[in-house]
Amino acid sequence: PRSTACFGTTIPTAPIAPLAAVAGSDARVACASGRVRYANLDYAASAPALQTVVDEITAALPRYASVHRGAGQLSQETTAAYEDARRSVARFVGARDDDTVVFTRNTTDSINLLATCVPGDTVVLDVEHHANLLPWKRTGARIVECAQTVAATLTALDRELAARPAALLAITGASNVTGEVLPLPTLATIAHRHGARLFVDAAQLAPHRAVTIADHGIDYLAFSGHKLYAPFGAGVLVGRTDWLDGAEPYLAGGGASADVPREIADDDVDTRWHHGPARHEAGSPNVLGALAVAAACDALIEWGPERIRRHEQSLLARLDAGLGRLPGVRPLRIWSDSHDHVGIAAFTVDGWTPRAVAEHLSDGHGIGVRDGRFCAHPLLSRLGHPDGAVRVSLGLGSRSEDIDRLLTALAEL
Ligand code: PLP
Repeated sequence: PRSTACFGTTIPTAPIAPLAAVAGSDARVACASGRVRYANLDYAASAPALQTVVDEITAALPRYASVHRGAGQLSQETTAAYEDARRSVARFVGARDDDTVVFTRNTTDSINLLATCVPGDTVVLDVEHHANLLPWKRTGARIVECAQTVAATLTALDRELAARPAALLAITGASNVTGEVLPLPTLATIAHRHGARLFVDAAQLAPHRAVTIADHGIDYLAFSGHKLYAPFGAGVLVGRTDWLDGAEPYLAGGGASADVPREIADDDVDTRWHHGPARHEAGSPNVLGALAVAAACDALIEWGPERIRRHEQSLLARLDAGLGRLPGVRPLRIWSDSHDHVGIAAFTVDGWTPRAVAEHLSDGHGIGVRDGRFCAHPLLSRLGHPDGAVRVSLGLGSRSEDIDRLLTALAEL
């Protein structure tokens, strides 16, 4: 049979192949069942590099030099490639022409940087990953409790922003725990209605969906290369230039400084700083990391968000239906009225700790998932799981066989 019915929904049972070649997709691991192909169901933690990214970086490795400083041919070529990488990122996120793209280390770094630039209060929801919570807590952010439904949560945010002015609303694009997504254009409307700007933590959204800053009314956005099929070490912050140029440089040092006086005072008031991305990129940048992020952005643009979404949604339908059929497996949901989630699902299994489930999947079946509290401790407590849960996450290299293996292994519990 090519399909089967589950809870009134038709679930495809025909095999679903990976959409793209990712590095290490044929890696084999030892487990109780013997040596098996590693089933990577942990894309939300770090996605394996796309083969096209590996190829581009391998080609760039023998031919790079310092950027922005050298007159040599390779310095000029590398500088051009680095600046081109910004343009790829801007295209990928549908940035406005006058937005600034800053290369950072990762999403956490981007948010810490933005937190130094906001001229006023920030409002956040309590469902956030710590990366989009703790930097704002340091700045005295107001934390809004999310409600049982998306609709009531939007109302709570609207009320909070109406009650007291804020400069920024900082929200995740997709939950790193449940994959649930919030309506970004509505959030932008709410923020703007009250004179605030909208920042979207797109660490979990960007790998799965088209995020178009300009069309969605987003003012700032961040994501990490290592969750977007590039290696570790590079991320981006994209958004409106005025706050970035108006803030002190994130790091003091070469590259950010335009002119440093001979007499260096205790403070650096006399130093003249660059405007634009250089202002927040002091020190020699991670050029290869930036090129890798750009290569991943270009590849995802080429695949097209609709194709990516279709692949993922058919896998997700199989996963959700399969989990729904297993007694004692309890999926986590933040909102009772949300109908959309990216390729992430978290659950608990009655009678088993999350760690025991994850070990059973790994040691018994060669399946990699994540267990714990996913750097979202307040959310896990709110959902009634202070001891954590198990998280399965999908990506371009995922195939139906991974999900079938997972469901079979879970059924043993
Ligand atoms: N935001 C979300 C929603 C995440 O899922 C993560 C990582 O899991 C981060 C931010 C932090 O990303 P990074 O560790 O790459 O800085």
